[in-house]
Amino acid sequence: AASVEFRNVTKRYGNVTAVDSVSFTIAPGQLVTLLGPSGCGKTTTLRMIAGLEMASEGQILIGERDVTNLSAADRDVSMVFQSYALFPHMSVIENVAYGPTVQGVPKKDAYAMAMEKLEIIGLKGLEKRAPSELSGGQQQRVAVARALVLEPQVLLFDEPLSNLDAKLRRRVREDIRELQQNLNLTVAYVTHDQEEALAVSDHIIVMSNARIAQTGSPRELYEEP
Ligand code: ADP
Ligand code: ADP
Repeated sequence: AASVEFRNVTKRYGNVTAVDSVSFTIAPGQLVTLLGPSGCGKTTTLRMIAGLEMASEGQILIGERDVTNLSAADRDVSMVFQSYALFPHMSVIENVAYGPTVQGVPKKDAYAMAMEKLEIIGLKGLEKRAPSELSGGQQQRVAVARALVLEPQVLLFDEPLSNLDAKLRRRVREDIRELQQNLNLTVAYVTHDQEEALAVSDHIIVMSNARIAQTGSPRELYEEP
């Protein structure tokens, strides 16, 4: 697990400042949520950690490494997208093995890496199914296995519960927390739901209008004095 550090990071889209001189550090092995209303800059922040958006100004470090100008492929970071973004024409195991295969890992080894993650995530036995044959919660697990297969230093979640029904949400957030703790992963987790942030986080970064409004542990931010 590696740390993530933003130093005065700004992102502009034309005249819109989506993220305005934001600084924070996520310690190794911590789950930190970016919490705030729609449009405050959470997803842009997450995408800048991933290298899916480049910072307009400032510096981004992962561990000791300055990744500000590195592409997504060179950052050792994986993201679980809100929509899961699974390949519909590929089986579960093909989806999970895709990353290593693209990197040139022989198919047999890529499948072994994929099976290991599918076992960890509780999907053993479903590897030959198509994504469309799985429940929403199972599809999300495939997305998580796919994100884990290259053993990233940092794992990112963008509103991971938003496509699940209310009954599943609590269970899935507990599963994400357990996985994060068992594998000692550094996780950045975007949500607009305060109750969800309180339940899963080591630390919360509250964003408002492209800036950080408050940071602290769930207890520091929300427990009655
Ligand atoms: P959040 O994730 O908190 O809802 P976003 O990071 O998605 O917020 O967006 C922050 C602001 O940046 C919003 O005003 C949004 O419309 C704008 N924005 C995000 N992405 C783009 C983009 N690709 N082009 C132009 N504006 C964008
Ligand atoms: P969320 O806030 O949940 O990420 P959005 O609908 O704000 O969802 O954004 C979805 C996608 O559209 C993101 O990739 C974001 O970067 C992009 N986006 C958001 N606002 C704009 C915008 N004004 N112009 C272009 N792209 C945008």
